[in-house]
Amino acid sequence: MGPLKLLILQATPFCNLACTYCYLPDKSIKKRLAMEVIEKSVQKIVQAGLIDREFSVVWHAGEPLAAGIKFYRAADAIIRQNLPEGISFKHCIQTNGTLITPEWCDLFKELNVHVGVSVDGPAFINDAYRLDKTGKGTLERVIAGVQHLRDKDVSFHTISVVTKDAVKVPDAIFHFLHSLGPDDIAFNVEEIEGVHDTSSISSVTADELGAFMKRLYELSFAMGSPNFVREIRNAHHAVMGSVMNLPFTLPMESNPLAIINVDIDGNFSSFSPELLGMKHDQFGDFVFGNFLTSGIEELKESAKFKEIATQIIDGVKKCEAECDYFHFCGGGSPSNKLYENGSFNSAETMHCRMTKKVVTDVVLQRMEAMIEHDIPAEYASILA
Ligand code: SF4
Repeated sequence: MGPLKLLILQATPFCNLACTYCYLPDKSIKKRLAMEVIEKSVQKIVQAGLIDREFSVVWHAGEPLAAGIKFYRAADAIIRQNLPEGISFKHCIQTNGTLITPEWCDLFKELNVHVGVSVDGPAFINDAYRLDKTGKGTLERVIAGVQHLRDKDVSFHTISVVTKDAVKVPDAIFHFLHSLGPDDIAFNVEEIEGVHDTSSISSVTADELGAFMKRLYELSFAMGSPNFVREIRNAHHAVMGSVMNLPFTLPMESNPLAIINVDIDGNFSSFSPELLGMKHDQFGDFVFGNFLTSGIEELKESAKFKEIATQIIDGVKKCEAECDYFHFCGGGSPSNKLYENGSFNSAETMHCRMTKKVVTDVVLQRMEAMIEHDIPAEYASILA
């Protein structure tokens, strides 16, 4: 189990937007995580010996900036006070970008926060899905937020949701995102999860999504940054890891306690972050304890935790037995398996077809073409 890589804390469930594909429940609840919950969470994780040398604190599940600047200064101090010497951490915030001000940028620099901005592309893409609560598009406000980041020299990345509309216009999306000035860009295919029980990507074929990713790849190469797109970068690393015969490591989402998710009330879970807060016929929910009243030892004794961990590992074994892409993937996302296939103990999902398999194919095809034409030097920058 572990070591802990991501401590995911829900600063607030509240979000000021109402994106049509959002899977989060409770977005109108205006509560903030109590400092006592943060303190107890860190203390109990440290006591359990789950932290190796470094980990990330990820502020997630709601719009994190809605919690306010003072909240993060206090949270940072509490975390530091409760960590033994020699352990370091970094803050990561994924924001919708609409609330970023110069003061937020000062905080990001002060606490060395890794900032991600959620934005899907130019207005005709972004504002078709990323709406505020009055139904208005949000792109202008995102651009204003990004401008503050740039004015204050705060580096950031973007994450975009790929919908059925997005796959038709890779050039427009790539050039728009590049013009915002991020260090790199990432794409999440619209998922079936939680309260979002359909996906527009269901009507898209793997070939169409492959053409989208291939075009992003070409555009990245053309500007001299083949790793500018996160999914391509991950595929490069996975392919090179396979070529170099690196030992298999279980992906974080399948590795018990590599990720610990804590909600606004102190309830905690593990595995895929999306599981916390979701309901399920067999398991009821995916809460394994509450840091205000229990800890990691109780979690290890929990029958539900053991059953879920076993099913997830069995699902990884199923992937290994059935899937040619296993060495590049490691067994996929438990939450996608559960919500698409009805069981953690399953293999292929629409999500892995449309993300892992398609992207791996795009990268392998280009590598094969390069080797055939005897110009592998193109890959020097990838390996560097
Ligand atoms: S690509 Fe899909 S089926 Fe293959 S190993 Fe990954 S999750 Fe499993």
